[in-house]
Amino acid sequence: MTIMVTGGAGYIGSHTCVELIEAGHQVVIFDNFCNSNIEVVRRIERITSAAPVVVRGDVRDRDLISATLAKHRCEAVIHFAGLKSVAESVSHPLLYYENNVLGSMSLVQAMQDVGVGKLVFSSSATVYGDPVFLPLTEDHPKSPYSPYGRTKLVVEEMLTEVAQSTNRFKIAILRYFNPVGCHVSGLIGEDPLGVPSNLMPFIAQVAVGRRPHVNIFGNDYNTPDGTGIRDYVHVMDLASGHLRALEHLSRQDFIQVNLGTGRGSSVLDLVQAFSKACGKDIPFVFSARRDGDVASYYAATDLAHKLLGWRATRKLHDMCADTWRWQSRNPNGYGIVPDQVSA
Ligand code: NAD
Ligand code: UDP
Repeated sequence: MTIMVTGGAGYIGSHTCVELIEAGHQVVIFDNFCNSNIEVVRRIERITSAAPVVVRGDVRDRDLISATLAKHRCEAVIHFAGLKSVAESVSHPLLYYENNVLGSMSLVQAMQDVGVGKLVFSSSATVYGDPVFLPLTEDHPKSPYSPYGRTKLVVEEMLTEVAQSTNRFKIAILRYFNPVGCHVSGLIGEDPLGVPSNLMPFIAQVAVGRRPHVNIFGNDYNTPDGTGIRDYVHVMDLASGHLRALEHLSRQDFIQVNLGTGRGSSVLDLVQAFSKACGKDIPFVFSARRDGDVASYYAATDLAHKLLGWRATRKLHDMCADTWRWQSRNPNGYGIVPDQVSA
């Protein structure tokens, strides 16, 4: 089938496009490139030997979305497009509500305009907020602590009500834990603008010599080594989760599912695993806790397995080895001369 992938040029979207194309689907990338580089499309083509259709546009442009859905006879949408920086959402909350909430609303309206009903939505474990219990099951109370997290929860609630109001929509809400890693080819990967705020791309930039050391935010948490624990999940496992969710929508109209491994790893675990994968020491210094961080969280994975038959298969070592392949071959991300990159 033909699938519109909003935000398909971004980190998770580009990996999911590869997975979809390799499963035999056609992909229409709909992206305004506010946080991505057109070079990614050439890389997707190199991996899959298929050229995705690319439409440069904003998800807030309802008419352009409905025209694109109709023109390419799309049967489903996977909606990644959105802004994702917690810190930026605190300083610019309206930007986040407009992009993430109004963007999602206009997308759903456009889908309704042209009768496209299947939708997979990128949500986040951040909707749970501070864990009351672990692992985080899908029915854990929702209490996001940032405007970013609240935009995700508002969209989840909107989609829940849309699904309750009609059987024309079939909706999967996927709550990602900590996506890391990249495609095994090293051709596509995570390419954050400016200083990475997430741990894995920061470590990768230290390993490649772009930054002197990792700042570990807090070593006095109530965890075995004192550093924060997260559920890191390989982006290609996430990508396959999207494919499974899409397939599942022919059997069930509405689902909300965690995508994580169910295993927690500390900041030091990740630093050590990366050091092993790249064969270098990763210098680090302990610094103060980061505002808003919690000690530990990881996913309950039973529902994803029960409904989608999905489990993450890749280990911390794969996440680090694949990230290193990408980062060492593309030290400046997509900014390098593409012909210097060998597959
Ligand atoms: P990303 O920034 O790499 O990709 C998002 C893509 O959407 C970019 O290509 C950007 O140009 C595009 N975009 C943004 N606003 C747009 C708009 N208004 N119209 C059209 N295109 C627009 O981010 P990602 O890490 O790939 O995340 C994808 C989705 O997953 C986001 O919705 C994010 O909130 C969610 N998510 C990400 C993580 C994570 O840690 N990466 C965790 C949980 C959830
Ligand atoms: N972290 C860190 N140094 C960094 C970035 C993150 O020590 O430069 C820690 C952070 O405190 C958390 C974990 O790494 O315990 C994962 O943070 P990230 O920002 O990657 O994801 P989050 O779970 O906050 O969404």
